[in-house]
Amino acid sequence: MNMSAARDVSGPRERLVVIGGDAAGMSAASQARRLRSAEELEIVAFERGHFTSFSACGIPYWVGGDVDDRDQLIARSPEEHRARDIDLRMRTEVTEIDVARGRVRARDVDSGDEYWTSYDKLVIATGARPIRPDMPGTDAPGVHGVQTLDDGQALIDTLTRTRGRRAVVVGAGYIGVEMAEALINRGYEVTVVNRGSEPMSTLDPDMGRLVHEAMEGLGITMVDDTEVTKILTGEDGRVRAVATEDAEYPADVVVLGIGVRPETTLARAAGLPLGDHGGLLTDLAMRVRGHENIWAGGDCVEVLDLVSGQERHIALGTHANKHGQVIGTNAAGGYATFPGVVGTAVSKVCDLEIARTGLREKDARRAGLQYVTATIESTSRAGYYPNSSSMTVKMLAERRTGRLLGVQIVGREGAGKRVDIAAVALTAGMTVEQMVSLDLGYAPPFSPVWDPVLVAARKATKAVNAGTS
Ligand SMILES: Cc1cc2nc3c(=O)[nH]c(=O)nc-3n(C[C@H](O)[C@H](O)[C@H](O)COP(=O)(O)OP(=O)(O)OC[C@H]3O[C@@H](n4cnc5c(N)ncnc54)[C@H](O)[C@@H]3O)c2cc1C
Repeated sequence: MNMSAARDVSGPRERLVVIGGDAAGMSAASQARRLRSAEELEIVAFERGHFTSFSACGIPYWVGGDVDDRDQLIARSPEEHRARDIDLRMRTEVTEIDVARGRVRARDVDSGDEYWTSYDKLVIATGARPIRPDMPGTDAPGVHGVQTLDDGQALIDTLTRTRGRRAVVVGAGYIGVEMAEALINRGYEVTVVNRGSEPMSTLDPDMGRLVHEAMEGLGITMVDDTEVTKILTGEDGRVRAVATEDAEYPADVVVLGIGVRPETTLARAAGLPLGDHGGLLTDLAMRVRGHENIWAGGDCVEVLDLVSGQERHIALGTHANKHGQVIGTNAAGGYATFPGVVGTAVSKVCDLEIARTGLREKDARRAGLQYVTATIESTSRAGYYPNSSSMTVKMLAERRTGRLLGVQIVGREGAGKRVDIAAVALTAGMTVEQMVSLDLGYAPPFSPVWDPVLVAARKATKAVNAGTS
């Protein structure tokens, strides 16, 4: 992220309009306010929900009981934003962007009143929309998404009220596995039904298998390669089971975690450019391509994958916050860029840590890259040090050049954040051979003399030199 301070702009007061009041939108608004006073820049932000600047990332830990209180997940309330001279209009949905006339139409969600607001500069930060399977029963009481704090509260209310025993999670991406942990922590028997061949499709299947085995070891029933066909309800209308082609899984509660799509309904209707994955297309300054005074960021945009050179849609809060900073700086008249991502993500289910960065084998193939792989098992600490645990590291490197392409890690405590070493190496364009000599910290409580990531790099280097995979 390249940033410089706002230049001094004098002249008539401009209006910046922000659509969406969470990570990307309010980071942009806050950064613009930091750089330009209310006399110079009026900021109007529209949010259709009840909350601003909240951490959806924390919902699984709130539902699971690690975080006591919903308010701990709120970084900044509407009142706090307003105190910083941001005209925040809650429960107000933008229903149209009129690019030609530089205005948006807004509707008060509760009263239905509509009005137009003009803008000099516009930020689109509408996030992503959870995929809801098109099948009977998805709206039944007891079936929950976990996208917003309202969703989290509704799920907690169901769990408290029904005091059931059995939960089914549909989907085994990171939200699915984190919700499986939350439900285990609340004493539920958990079944995870997943259409992929293994959980965590952001990993290669061989690494996903380790997650499958570990989750089964935690007492979770894993049903892979299986499509949910129907959600069955009882006489009271509440969910009673999840049906697949050949089985029924009894459920007192169902959590849906089957992914998201960029929320670009407004942008599409306004004729703004969308990519193959349905996200808005921006330049490196997060400016919507072809539109000098419109920016977009967060889950509603596509990002450049620095390893493959292709555009991707990756819905992560870590990107949304950075996009917001860049957009706020630019909208305030400064200069900042967001170069792209290497695709780093980390999550956990109970004590199992799962991390990935860069390309999977199928991504590398799709990008036309030839590669070698190396998979090793090592330990989180020196073997003789107490509480050392094993981890598996898989590394992909480009054939012949040895350029690092990706790393996946599955293990226990201390495994997940090791992926950051690889994220830095990927960003720097290092080869696996260069990685072998990285001067990483070592002491027995923290790692073996050869850190597991370096052991993988050593094996990958051998594979590159041998010209085999
Ligand atoms: C359960 C869960 C766990 C997660 N865990 C992690 C994690 O561990 N790490 C990580 O990096 N990311 C995580 N994420 C993803 C992260 O929360 C999102 O990437 C991030 O919130 C995206 O921010 P955003 O501002 O782009 O979109 P959002 O947070 O979706 O915000 C968009 C806002 O725009 C509003 N809006 C949309 N359309 C309109 C309109 N027309 N008018 C007015 N308002 C509108 C919406 O109401 C919403 O509040 C998690 C997400 C979930 C659901």
